[in-house]
Amino acid sequence: MGILAKANAKKVLKEFLIKEPAKLDLYALAGYENLFIEERDLFSSEGQLVVKDGMGIITIDDKITEKGQKKFTIAHELGHYFNSGKKNGSYFCSGLDIRGIKQDITAEVDANDFAAELLMPEDWFVKFTKGKIIGKKLLSESAEYFDISLSAAALRYAEIGNHPVAVIMSKDGSVKWSRINKHFTFHFIRPKSKVNNLSYAYEFFNGEKIPDGPEEILADAWFAGAYNYKKDYFLYEQNIPMYKYNAVLTLLWEK
Ligand SMILES: [Zn+2]
Repeated sequence: MGILAKANAKKVLKEFLIKEPAKLDLYALAGYENLFIEERDLFSSEGQLVVKDGMGIITIDDKITEKGQKKFTIAHELGHYFNSGKKNGSYFCSGLDIRGIKQDITAEVDANDFAAELLMPEDWFVKFTKGKIIGKKLLSESAEYFDISLSAAALRYAEIGNHPVAVIMSKDGSVKWSRINKHFTFHFIRPKSKVNNLSYAYEFFNGEKIPDGPEEILADAWFAGAYNYKKDYFLYEQNIPMYKYNAVLTLLWEK
């Protein structure tokens, strides 16, 4: 994760004396920085930031209905603002960037890292999830406590949660990227590989209804080609669909 982006978010939380998630008011924070937040119909982006001479406008696509996603988008744009040192500039951010489906532009990844730390500071997130069993309930509770989307909570858990998980982003039937905790049994999923038909993620791309919660699957569904492949080895798989982008975020963990 972007160390500087994370440090920038920590600095903002400290400066604004924010000591718990409920005290974080993004509108007040933006207002203090002379950034006006508006919502309107955006065509090719989900969030925009334009900064000029100490003032700026954050625009959020009014088609985003989910509150957690809206918050994350504002936090992402604030990320560009603080990460750039409040310099003049414009950013036009696609949903693929903000939702982390695509991770090929450093400034976009850094803006997401800023948003994750601002909305779910590491210390609080670790404290909140410590000693609890990974699963749908914990992810939903985390999303509710931090008032963010389920996918943002899942990504955050994959980064700093205490149970080793693998997280995979797939789009249009192929793996875009994966992040695997070093304590997880298997270590590698080839980018661009086709999603295996033994997985529930495959069913999502096949247009079938997939289970809401975690399901047991054979490790073959994701790690058939692994150097340390294990036969009859079971994992849990949970999927968070992003219908608009024909993408799915998959979480895997061991029993
Ligand atoms: Zn952006």
